[in-house]
Amino acid sequence: MEVLVKELVAEATKLLKQNNISDADTDSWLLAEHILGCTRQKYFMNPSLKVNDDLAGTYKRAVLKRANHTPLQHITGTQCFMDYTFKVNENVLIPRPETELLVDRIVRFVGDKKVSVLDMCTGSGCIAISIDKMCGSAIVDAVDISEKTLDVAKENNKINNANVHFIHSDLFDNVEKKYDIIVSNPPYIPSADIDELMEEVKKHEPTIALDGKKDGLLFYKRICSQANDYLNENGKIYFEIGYDQGGAVKKLLKENHFKNIQVLKDLSGLDRMVIAGKE
Ligand code: GLN
Repeated sequence: MEVLVKELVAEATKLLKQNNISDADTDSWLLAEHILGCTRQKYFMNPSLKVNDDLAGTYKRAVLKRANHTPLQHITGTQCFMDYTFKVNENVLIPRPETELLVDRIVRFVGDKKVSVLDMCTGSGCIAISIDKMCGSAIVDAVDISEKTLDVAKENNKINNANVHFIHSDLFDNVEKKYDIIVSNPPYIPSADIDELMEEVKKHEPTIALDGKKDGLLFYKRICSQANDYLNENGKIYFEIGYDQGGAVKKLLKENHFKNIQVLKDLSGLDRMVIAGKE
């Protein structure tokens, strides 16, 4: 038997809405594209498009997962970031669009210069790999504390044909070089706020990638206290931060003798990045 794509997607959207999935319409089409190979555009060109029962079943099972608040990216297995495709699973934070601003900033600063870059808490590797791809002469290393996470990052390095060197380390413990740039999007959610996050995030993304402990600032504190020893002369540090952490992270950098500290906003006008120069 064959089933109309139109009916499948309409049912999916209804189910996702009933389960309070905020982008129900978009997600039902993205799943249709992933599983049925049918985009909304393709459907509009041929509104009587049908798929076989097997495919319809696979689609329905995927929709059910989404209705249970599994992140869309865990169903499709990928997330696009800076135009590159990254494999994601429950061992890595799903790359966020805000983080693209951080990468964009660094890429514009680095250009073709032959600089060394360290990505601290690399997760999926999205920051390190994008910089490596976009800055032809940069030498990029990346650190993560979790081996399972590094396995995903290494796979992403291969998938994207990049040259990042990965270091298994608790922050700087196993880092042996100095760098021109240190970048980090560390875990920065205060522990007490984790329970209030969307189910997609708190149940499916790794807590270790989110939890910045009591005040959310633990990793900024640890990184700021050591980063000067791992930066070359005129080196720079780039942090992604939570919307309300600009003042606190600026203060931490000041206390650790960093210079030219700038807090920058994202496209929604919220504090999102802090950049500073070596002491
Ligand atoms: N650096 C990765 C990212 O920006 C992972 C960050 C994290 O796990 N906190 O997506």
